[in-house]
Amino acid sequence: MNVLLCGDFDAHAFAAWHRALAEAMPEARWWTLDQARAQAAAVNAAVVANPPPGSLQGLPKLRLIQSLWAGVDRLLADRSLPAGVPIARMVDPAMNAAMAETALWATLALQRDFFRYARQQRQGRWQQHAQRRADETPVLVLGQGEMGRTTARTLAQAGFVVSGWSRGGSAAEPGVKSLAGDQALWQALPQTQVLINLLPLTPHTLGLLNAPLFATLPRGAGVVNLARGRHLVDDDLLAALDSGQVGHAVLDVFHAEPLPTGHAFWSHPGVTLLPHVAAQTDARSAAAVAVANLRALRDGAPLRHRVEPTRGY
Ligand code: NAP
Repeated sequence: MNVLLCGDFDAHAFAAWHRALAEAMPEARWWTLDQARAQAAAVNAAVVANPPPGSLQGLPKLRLIQSLWAGVDRLLADRSLPAGVPIARMVDPAMNAAMAETALWATLALQRDFFRYARQQRQGRWQQHAQRRADETPVLVLGQGEMGRTTARTLAQAGFVVSGWSRGGSAAEPGVKSLAGDQALWQALPQTQVLINLLPLTPHTLGLLNAPLFATLPRGAGVVNLARGRHLVDDDLLAALDSGQVGHAVLDVFHAEPLPTGHAFWSHPGVTLLPHVAAQTDARSAAAVAVANLRALRDGAPLRHRVEPTRGY
């Protein structure tokens, strides 16, 4: 099997992925974009990480596009993707667990005012606040896919009052209330102390974290965006933080990454930010997941984690 490996990684990252994939599937030939171009008719599959638009054109025997990233919004934005070639995304239990850890940290810090105490330390201020209980802290997780479900389950196990929102409703998770559809979302927001976004970015979810949504939360609620920067309307969040409507925000993803120098989020006291590390792809486990799909392709077995391009996730 001849596999094109390409993406927006630097030479160091490319070498690390190449090593991990070649170790996981030594029987495959792993080609760079230049090598694949030279032998276009022999390429069977592509393993990609947001490749430059146009990279996957002109490969007549391409039978699978396997993303190394969980989010495929940038990949699907490439209008030149070959029609009809199955696209699969990365679903890695190790990443789901990492995402749940980040969400748990953010939720605990919001519930127990730890971000507020960190701010007070910088001001040299000793002040205690009333302690809230987890079982009195309603958390709403937007998106009940791979990451959202693991996160909701982890938070429920930690004692929080957890609801999980999706389009069609999710399979029962112990301690998690399943909410489906727009009406259920707007009904749940006024009771939500911590809002965690784990939706895929699609035309329907773009800009969902906006002024009307913040205005529907109880005053002082926490907002945690771990999914995509474009889910959030930055100016709406800044206004909600300045008015006290949102008490604190934890942001891992941004419209432009790296977050530009001078952006208000860098210095806003109500923002804790991370450089897109909520759940990093681990080359060791992710290579095994990608290779399992390549072997399924070779053996004529069903492909896993297919993306529906019309749906956007
Ligand atoms: P996923 O499995 O594709 O999530 C699908 C879930 O979202 C399903 O529950 C689906 O509902 C729901 N959904 C989709 N559109 C909806 C809508 N319009 N209204 C309500 N619910 C909707 O995604 P994932 O793998 O969990 O990833 C979640 C997010 O994390 C993505 O944005 C991804 O890019 C991001 N991510 C971030 C990092 C990081 O380090 N920060 C790392 C990896 C991934 P139905 O099932 O009912 O359709």
